[in-house]
Amino acid sequence: MAGLEQKRVENKLYALIQWCKSSYRVGENYYSNMLATIKRHQCPFCDYSSLLSANVKRHVLTHTGERPFLCNVCGKGFIEKKNLATHMLNHTGERPHKCELCSKSFMRKDALKTHMIVHFRC
Ligand SMILES: [Zn+2]
Ligand SMILES: [Zn+2]
Ligand SMILES: [Zn+2]
Repeated sequence: MAGLEQKRVENKLYALIQWCKSSYRVGENYYSNMLATIKRHQCPFCDYSSLLSANVKRHVLTHTGERPFLCNVCGKGFIEKKNLATHMLNHTGERPHKCELCSKSFMRKDALKTHMIVHFRC
């Protein structure tokens, strides 16, 4: 899990800063300078950077348009596996009438029509 890994790195960094603070009693500038010198992985296309190369790799896909996770039903591509998983829910069960205002879909057109009332009610 990239999110957890990121959190772990940040916690480590935070602990390090706390330790320096208590050990050396140096100014706040010192810490921001230290943070700036810690190697970040930089996106070659924009200002995005992250401590984790995996995050940058995934981010770069948004520039290249590469979508490694393909839906085997309709061929639609996704950057992240979890996005494909969410998309696949559209294919399970025949519900071709999709509400454009929320993610609900319906088997019959009149069911969607009835549903739309909830969005227009005040
Ligand atoms: Zn970028
Ligand atoms: Zn699909
Ligand atoms: Zn709706």
